[in-house]
Amino acid sequence: MFDDVDLLVCGAGPVGCVVAERAASVLGWRVLVVDRRRHVAGNCHDPVHPSGVRVHRYGPHYFRTNDDALLRYLSRFTEWVPANYEVRSLVRGELLPFPINLTTLERFFGRPLDPTTAGELLDGVRTPVAEPVNSEEYVLGRVGRELYEAFYLGYTRKQWGLHPRDLDPGVCGRVPVRLDRDPRYVGHKHQVMPRDGFTALFGRMLRHRKIRVVLDCPFAEVRGLVRPRRATVYTGPVDEYFGHALGRLPYRSLEFEFVPHAAEFVQPCVQINYPNDFRFTRSVEVKHVTGQRHPHTVVCYETPAATGEPYYPVPRPANRELYARYEELARAETARRRVFFCGRLAQYRYFNTDEVIQEALRCFDTIRRTCTAPAPSPTVRAA
Ligand code: UDP
Repeated sequence: MFDDVDLLVCGAGPVGCVVAERAASVLGWRVLVVDRRRHVAGNCHDPVHPSGVRVHRYGPHYFRTNDDALLRYLSRFTEWVPANYEVRSLVRGELLPFPINLTTLERFFGRPLDPTTAGELLDGVRTPVAEPVNSEEYVLGRVGRELYEAFYLGYTRKQWGLHPRDLDPGVCGRVPVRLDRDPRYVGHKHQVMPRDGFTALFGRMLRHRKIRVVLDCPFAEVRGLVRPRRATVYTGPVDEYFGHALGRLPYRSLEFEFVPHAAEFVQPCVQINYPNDFRFTRSVEVKHVTGQRHPHTVVCYETPAATGEPYYPVPRPANRELYARYEELARAETARRRVFFCGRLAQYRYFNTDEVIQEALRCFDTIRRTCTAPAPSPTVRAA
């Protein structure tokens, strides 16, 4: 059934779709893509809720990039709509702009400020730290204790089940602090969403006569059966690939609750964060950015969980060390069997959507450079 495969791809998320599309279009390879879920697009999957409203099934994916070439490449598969990623945080009973900006500082400290006086204010409250080694030190060094406790501490504890001092500086360092009134979550050049959604975008990548997609199919079911002539791309959890031989890498999971409303919009912006109230961390009304027009709306409440689907690698030193040992195994597997590990779970690293697509394009380049000669083994092993 699965003979004549050049490239086997485990996972129909952004990485799997991009590598499959490139291999089929550029190299003319026959590609088999398998995914244990019943849909493509991985965590970018954005189905239509029974109310008729498009939702982001696994949490919001706010597409942004500074890379013109990347946007051009993706534009082969979608048109775009402009998007306004505005987030507010519920602090002291008020919805304040987040990331912290000039307006946030004015409302939090209750006095008018300009960029100069706001900079002086932060200089007066921050705790200078030369080289922050964790997220607490990072934030204290930037905005001081009062803002840290109001905006970061509770959110981070809920999100990760860990104290910020037990997480790498980059966890909270992802979020900027601004001395202007820019209310956007990120400052990237392009902030757009695929007009028909991510599932349509990635689905179009796979619509190629050389690509076969098998859904609802765990990798374990094909890994012993299919012998691709050129290479395998694995995008699942790296520890699972090796049967957890070195122990389990920790992942943070999430629970999503979708609440429909018979109103066009119910939130003032796409996302509200709750650092100090409730069990959930944020409520997301993604309709603010999908460009959909509909009389109803849906708000998704996200509650972090210790168990469940692996969504976030947990960035802290002990986990980095364990991953480094898995990475050694992965390198040997690449050398021996031409299995390439790519993506958030396979590289145990937090990537945004644009970053993971760049990573997939790099992975494809490596495969093209190193795997153009067929592997000597037969395509199909006797079942
Ligand atoms: N964070 C926080 N308060 C917030 C939002 C974020 O302390 O209101 C911290 C938290 O630790 C989070 C990290 O900053 O995990 C990165 O936030 P981001 O919004 O980028 O997380 P993502 O949307 O990728 O889950």
